[in-house]
Amino acid sequence: MRHIAIIGSGPAGYYTAEAAIKAFGDDVTIDIIDRLPVPYGLIRFGVAPDHQAIKNVARRFETTALNDNVHFCGNISVGKDISVEELQQLYDAVVLATGAPNDRPLDIPNSDLSGVIGSAAFVGWYNGHPDFANLAPPLSGKHVAIIGNGNVALDVARILAKTREEFATSDITENALLALTDSSVESITLLGRRGPHQIAMTPKELAELGHLERAIPIVDPDDLPEPILDSMLEPGIRKSVTHLRNFAQIAATQDSHKPVRIAFDFYASPVKFGGDGKVESLTIERTKLDSDLRSIGTGETYDIPCDLAISCIGYRTPPIDNVPYEHGRGRFASNDGRILPGLYCVGWARRGPSGTIGTNRPDGFAIVERMIEDNIGTSRKTGRAGLNSLMANRKVEIVTFRDWKNIDKLEVEHARQGAPREKITNAEEMIAARKG
Ligand code: NAP
Repeated sequence: MRHIAIIGSGPAGYYTAEAAIKAFGDDVTIDIIDRLPVPYGLIRFGVAPDHQAIKNVARRFETTALNDNVHFCGNISVGKDISVEELQQLYDAVVLATGAPNDRPLDIPNSDLSGVIGSAAFVGWYNGHPDFANLAPPLSGKHVAIIGNGNVALDVARILAKTREEFATSDITENALLALTDSSVESITLLGRRGPHQIAMTPKELAELGHLERAIPIVDPDDLPEPILDSMLEPGIRKSVTHLRNFAQIAATQDSHKPVRIAFDFYASPVKFGGDGKVESLTIERTKLDSDLRSIGTGETYDIPCDLAISCIGYRTPPIDNVPYEHGRGRFASNDGRILPGLYCVGWARRGPSGTIGTNRPDGFAIVERMIEDNIGTSRKTGRAGLNSLMANRKVEIVTFRDWKNIDKLEVEHARQGAPREKITNAEEMIAARKG
C-alpha cells in the first residue's frame, strides 16, 4: 500500500488526489491535510462569492473526498503541529499543495498606513476566512484605489460596487455584506502600471463591470492604442480590449448617471501613500513602456485622494522550514514539482499564482506521473495510523470529511434566503459545529 499526504485541500490538492486514485486504484491511501477545519482552500476563500458557478467545482472534489481511500484531515497546521520531515517519515510521498495565500508586498513608502491592505486580506474578509473575518476595512470614505490590472483587481472592484440585491445568490458573509452595502464608496480607481494591451483581465470577468446596477466602468479613450494594433493580440486579450473600448463609450450613455465610478488609470505606477495615521492620498507616477513592454517612470507625478487602498499585485507561497524555496518568485524550489526525494509541490505552490482553477488538473496528473517515474512506495510506512497517533499525542483534534459535512449542513441551514450558505468564519466555531 502506498501512503500519500497532500498538504492543502484546494484545487491543486484535490486534483492531485483524483489523479492518484486513477493511477494507483486501491493500492493507495491519500490523506489531505489542511490547516483549517474546512476543505477547498481557494474555492471557498479565494473565488469571489458572486461566482458560484466556479465554486461548483467543489462538487467534483467531493466525489474524490468520498472515495474510501481518501481522508480529509482538517485542523492540522504543517510546520506547527507536525513538520514536513515527520510527514515524510509517515508517508511514501508528501505533496505540498499549499497555494499562494500571502500577498506580494507593495514596496512603496507608507504602505503600513491604516487603510492600505492587500487583496489576500480583503478577499479573505468578504469570503469569511478565519484569519481575516474581523478585518473591518475602512469603507466610510469615497475613494478607493485598487493597484493591479489582473482578475483579482476586477473581483475587488466589482465586490465594492455591487448592491445588496446583486449579492442575493452569493455566499458573501452577512458581516461583509452589511459593511459593503453601508459603504460610502463612490470612486474606485484601477491602477495599471502598463497599458490596455498589457492587462491580465479575462474577457468574461471584465465584461461584468459593464452590467452593474449602480456602477459604470470609465476608460479614457486617449489611453487606448490604435484599433488596428489589437489584431496583434492573443484572442483572449483582444476580447478584453474590446470590452475596454466599449467602456470608453459608456460615459456618454444613459448609464452615466450611476453613482459609483470604476475608473481605469493606465500607465500609472503607485509611488507613495500619504496620510496622518491613516491613508488619505496616493502619489502616482505616469509611466510609459520600453521596447520590452516593461513600464518605466516618466518622472511626472500626480496625487489622487485615497481612503482605502487594496493592492492586487499577485501572491506568494509561504515558505516552510527546511523546504527549499525560491525567494524571488515566492514559491517552492522544485524541478518540475520534485523538491526532494519523496517531497513534491503542485499548483500555485509549484508554478506561482497563475492560470485558472482548471489549470491545476493537468498539474495534479503531472505530479502523480512524477511519483510513478520515481517509483514511490510501497513501503512499510504507517500513513494515517501514524498521523492519528502523533496528533493524539499532541492533542490536535483532526477534523474529518464527515465532520465537515456537519459544518456544511449547519452553514446551509443558516443561509439568507436565496443564498447557498452563511459561512462560519471562526475556526473554533467550525470545530464546535463539527459534531452536528
Ligand atoms: P495577476 O493576474 O498576476 O495580475 C497582477 C497585476 O498586478 C498585473 O496587472 C501586474 O502588472 C500588477 N502588478 C504586479 N506588481 C505590481 C506593482 N509592483 N505595481 C503595480 N502593479 C503591479 O494576479 P491576480 O490578479 O492576483 O490573479 C492571480 C491568478 O488568479 C491569475 O491567474 C488570475 O487570472 C486568477 N484569477 C482568476 C479569476 C477568474 O477567472 N474569475 C479571478 C481571480 C483570479 P504587470 O503585468 O505590469 O506585472
